[in-house]
Amino acid sequence: MDRILVIDDSAVQAEFLRSILKDDYDVSIRNTAKEGLEAAKEGGYSLILLDVIMPDMDGFTVLQELKGTELTKHVPIILLTSLAEEQYEERGLLLGAVDYVAKPFSPVIIKARVNTHINLYHYQAEFKQQALVDDLTGVANRRCYEGASIAKWREAVRFGLPFSVCMFDIDKFKLYNDTFGHPAGDKVISAVAKTAGAYFQRSTDLFARYGGEEFVAVFVGNDGRSAFEFLKTIRQAVEDLHIPHNSPVCEWVTISVGGVSLVPKSGDDYGTFLKLADTMLYDAKRLGRNRVVWSNGGKEQWMEK
Ligand code: GH3
Ligand code: MG
Ligand code: MG
Repeated sequence: MDRILVIDDSAVQAEFLRSILKDDYDVSIRNTAKEGLEAAKEGGYSLILLDVIMPDMDGFTVLQELKGTELTKHVPIILLTSLAEEQYEERGLLLGAVDYVAKPFSPVIIKARVNTHINLYHYQAEFKQQALVDDLTGVANRRCYEGASIAKWREAVRFGLPFSVCMFDIDKFKLYNDTFGHPAGDKVISAVAKTAGAYFQRSTDLFARYGGEEFVAVFVGNDGRSAFEFLKTIRQAVEDLHIPHNSPVCEWVTISVGGVSLVPKSGDDYGTFLKLADTMLYDAKRLGRNRVVWSNGGKEQWMEK
């Protein structure tokens, strides 16, 4: 059941709203602006009904505060205004309220407006979610990666954390498609995504399909040696799927992996860092495929076989 927060200094009004909405929604009430703000910032509400005139703080201030807060800025807010406050509606809508309802309330109108905005809210959230997920594999897509990787990089710079990026690519995949057909190729891409993706489950990990049969992963906390060992395990897990390839180069479907780990300093460029991971991937291909090649951004390098 969706949760709705009512912020209104009139307990009678708030209870009336609850009685209208309680069959379809889980309604919480706060009778001061301050308590309302606190409750809203705890999160979990799909919609907020906000009174404009309250003794401790006006609704516009509350509205502005919620629109300026990351956790609450997308939550739809409906203003509650009386006829005398009609001139405020324009201001409220300009500040980001999705709608207003005039007091005295018509239960039917309130319910209809609340339903509409909650449906829109879910639709938007789902749309946003879908825009960041790769259709074929269900893992994050390139767009998600582009947004999140830079944020993670900046965080690593700020906290002085070891940061790793790795690129990997399915070996001789054009040949696979030519032999087994494109739909079979799609299944392989999904299987590789599922197998490798299962290793990137920490909240700080990011694993995405970079495009075609290429993937990218970003993670924090590992030095070069341990990141190299970690990716060896993943490379082996893909080989151990034992998906027949039947090419002269590889018996099974395999991946080549390139990566870099370092503690980024302010002024370091993420693009250069990513390019180095790509160079390591190129080396892994050149050295015979189905292997991991890793750099620490300086002189040290690790490679299999
Ligand atoms: P290498 O070992 O050097 O990576 O060789 P490769 O054949 O894997 O590399 P290449 O870049 O020449 O070919 C990649 C192939 O991946 C070509 C393309 O048909 C296939 N591919 C890209 N995206 C998809 C996809 O979504 N589904 C399928 N089935 N195949 C794809
Ligand atoms: Mg390939
Ligand atoms: Mg490729």
